[in-house]
Amino acid sequence: MNTNNTKQPSKFARFLRNNAALLLLIFCVLAITAVVLAVTLSRSKPDVVPDNPVTGNPDDNTPGAVTPDDDKPNTPSTQKVNVYFDKPLNYSKVGLDYTYGPDNLFVYKATLNEWSAHKAVDLHADEGTEVTAMYDGTVIKADKSFANGYFVVVDHGEGVVATYASLADLEVTAGDSVKKGDVLGYISTTAQCEYKEGPHLHLEVTENGTAVNPMPYVNGEKYRTIEVAA
Ligand SMILES: [Zn+2]
Repeated sequence: MNTNNTKQPSKFARFLRNNAALLLLIFCVLAITAVVLAVTLSRSKPDVVPDNPVTGNPDDNTPGAVTPDDDKPNTPSTQKVNVYFDKPLNYSKVGLDYTYGPDNLFVYKATLNEWSAHKAVDLHADEGTEVTAMYDGTVIKADKSFANGYFVVVDHGEGVVATYASLADLEVTAGDSVKKGDVLGYISTTAQCEYKEGPHLHLEVTENGTAVNPMPYVNGEKYRTIEVAA
């Protein structure tokens, strides 16, 4: 037994000694393989990380990214712009001023030979001067009355309605859409209540049904902020 015990280790020891080079080679191959595997796996991991966003993008593009992609171009492709009201004509002077309101100031109307409120401004110009829309809108009335002569009422939106009166040769009819600068008619003395003032535009503006001073509109102080394509 003792001899067997001593023989077996000696056999194993001899085997190790005889094949040391082979065992070392096998160990080296295994070690190199392990290192190569480790490096390959560690490299493939970073590859997977960028792969995920890459595979994620097509996923986003299919269902979700269409909306973000549309939103992203929309945000820079539209911009907010202030569009100002513009004076309705090249006027030489303001005649009768706006006198309606808390001040309750009255003006003298030569034609009627009386003092009364003037819920408008009279913008004087030569007869035949073009009168244009101060802003985009819809013509809600184009008619003639004794007091106002030929007049055009334009709904400029957001509760703002302007009456362009004492005109001649109306260029629009009710229902027409007008753009800022479109000709509505021409300066005249058709407003019988004011003909003694001379040729002028009698301009009234109401905001939600209440008369306001038209001059901030005429002076281009009023504007709307709209979104337009960039
Ligand atoms: Zn007037």
